[in-house]
Amino acid sequence: MTLPSYAVEAEILESKHVIPGVYQLTVAAKEIARTAQPGQFVQVLIERSFLLLRRPFGVADTDPNKGTLTMFYRLIGKGTRELSKLKAGETVNCLGPLGHGFDLDARQPLLIGGGMGLAPLILLARRFNGKAVVLMGGKNRPEVFWSELFRPLCTEVLVTTNDGSAGVKGFPTDLLPSLLEQGNHDRLFVCGPQIMMEKVSEIASRFSVPCQVSLERHMACGLGACLSCSIDTKSGKRKKVCKDGPVFWVEEVL
Ligand SMILES: Cc1cc2nc3c(=O)[nH]c(=O)nc-3n(C[C@H](O)[C@H](O)[C@H](O)COP(=O)(O)OP(=O)(O)OC[C@H]3O[C@@H](n4cnc5c(N)ncnc54)[C@H](O)[C@@H]3O)c2cc1C
Repeated sequence: MTLPSYAVEAEILESKHVIPGVYQLTVAAKEIARTAQPGQFVQVLIERSFLLLRRPFGVADTDPNKGTLTMFYRLIGKGTRELSKLKAGETVNCLGPLGHGFDLDARQPLLIGGGMGLAPLILLARRFNGKAVVLMGGKNRPEVFWSELFRPLCTEVLVTTNDGSAGVKGFPTDLLPSLLEQGNHDRLFVCGPQIMMEKVSEIASRFSVPCQVSLERHMACGLGACLSCSIDTKSGKRKKVCKDGPVFWVEEVL
């Protein structure tokens, strides 16, 4: 079923520099906040950049009562650089919510995220109403600032860093086998670097735990029309990350 999406001129309520190179953007977007599902994304038009194509960002959080939508983004190129210069009171055109989000049917969910992949897991954790555990990875202590955002939403927050400056030294995949051995999780939800998702997928299949991954591909329209984000799936069918995904069952795509 295709749900409606909206193109709204969204007022920026807050643009916050969280850590070097990472921003948190909260906008007023009533309809998107009301309808967005965890794992969906928004296509943002950054007019001052004079870029023709919108830029996709995951829906990190919403407050349907206040009508707000929050996104987190890392500075990459021209679009995100211009976005970071916008101030509260200015507007951005947001098209969304787009794509196919996570399946919420889980009793003991384990959320696994690396880097900016943690953004869409915030709304997912919120929807699980305190029953999710999150396992996160980042380069160093500043890069796992997410832990404070997840703490009020999860039963447990497990942190790994590459340099050991916070949590356990290593990667989320180093902790995953022992977590699954305890048999406490009936579903995994993963978003992060491709290599991390591939390793999680191997471990998940070893323990026979169903797993969903959120893929990231360069995309232009975000609406399923331009085919620039098409991928091959294991069944041989081509699928569009923007419309059939970005969330897929792991056995379909990895
Ligand atoms: C479904 C989806 C959700 C995303 N959610 C987030 C998020 O929550 N936070 C975040 O920081 N980033 C997210 N990204 C990546 C983000 O869209 C890119 O970092 C951003 O478009 C870069 O734009 P730019 O103009 O600054 O960079 P440029 O490199 O100048 O962009 C050039 C072109 O490449 C595309 N592009 C560049 N990098 C990526 C990328 N990694 N993925 C897809 N397209 C890319 C741009 O859309 C643009 O068309 C998401 C990508 C997808 C596909």
